[in-house]
Amino acid sequence: MIYNRCGLSGIRLPAVSLGLWHNFGHVDDYETARRMLFTAFDAGITHIDLANNYGPPPGSAEENFGKILRQDFHGYRDELIISTKAGYLMWPGPYGEWGSRKYLLASLDQSLKRMQLDYVDIFYSHRPDPDTPLEETMMALDQAVRSGKALYAGISNYDPDQTLEASEILRQLGTPCLIHQPKYSLFERWVEDSLLDILEKEGIGCIAFSPLAQGMLTDKYLQGIPEDSRASKAVFLKKEHITSEIINKVKQLNNLAKKRGQSLAQMALAWLLKDKRVTSVLIGARTVEQLEDNLGTLDNLEFTSEELKKIEVILG
Ligand code: NDP
Repeated sequence: MIYNRCGLSGIRLPAVSLGLWHNFGHVDDYETARRMLFTAFDAGITHIDLANNYGPPPGSAEENFGKILRQDFHGYRDELIISTKAGYLMWPGPYGEWGSRKYLLASLDQSLKRMQLDYVDIFYSHRPDPDTPLEETMMALDQAVRSGKALYAGISNYDPDQTLEASEILRQLGTPCLIHQPKYSLFERWVEDSLLDILEKEGIGCIAFSPLAQGMLTDKYLQGIPEDSRASKAVFLKKEHITSEIINKVKQLNNLAKKRGQSLAQMALAWLLKDKRVTSVLIGARTVEQLEDNLGTLDNLEFTSEELKKIEVILG
């Protein structure tokens, strides 16, 4: 594993981190989830990312992860960076989502209970709240850290202006923002406009979520939509997203990856990691084989300028 410094903090994160959004809920196969966590940790993936609502049902990824931690990772807590988040709908009524102090701190307590942990390493505001003053949300993150229930604060899905403002508030409070978690992949490049520059200037790390565009940046959809794939379940990735235009690009990217001696998934991840402002790529995996494929990224992280140009031409 390669470990990259997270912004200007004392923490180094693995170049590849594992997210438990899908495939770790009560509806999923527990033994597969367990084996994926073993494979990840054995390969040096020391960072596992969760959120209150991961499952389904919501909360069950944390419950399963907590169970596996207790069963199998006894004695390894200090070798792990565990994150969770609050921001999306978790329970009914006006205090079950967004960015109030009431919601964030109650949600963190619930997450700790589900995972049977005393603290998480990173606690995120999962999304900006248009109606709650940013000060309140950031003060809740600061409080989470001061209470010892989280070691670091993070933000996710904040736009560049919100990020700058959040960073300033957190710094004033004495709890600098450790990390930003934006969506970033070959197909989703909004962070390049100014967010990455801001993160570098503010000394904040960047962990890219859905770096494989939920599986579209792999070869799996080249022959249609496999039955067990995320697009076949049509919840977060819909069949309509797999357009002929996308497939045409994926085909060309896949050919380029083959020439580099990599799978497309590996090339897509390596492409993100070539930017030193990207601390880690936060992958999902449904099988141990997918996880192993993604770990193979680390064997070739270099791109020639010709290859980079070719990628831009393909992406149009
Ligand atoms: P990816 O873009 O890595 O997609 C993962 C999916 O792609 C897998 O579940 C699998 O889907 C497919 N896949 C992965 N590797 C391969 C491979 N080598 N070959 C073929 N198919 C592969 O990431 P996710 O969208 O899952 O997101 C990753 C993490 O990011 C989440 O778990 C979560 O921690 C975080 N996240 C954060 C968000 C936020 O708002 N902060 C939002 C979304 C995610 P299939 O089932 O089709 O095989």
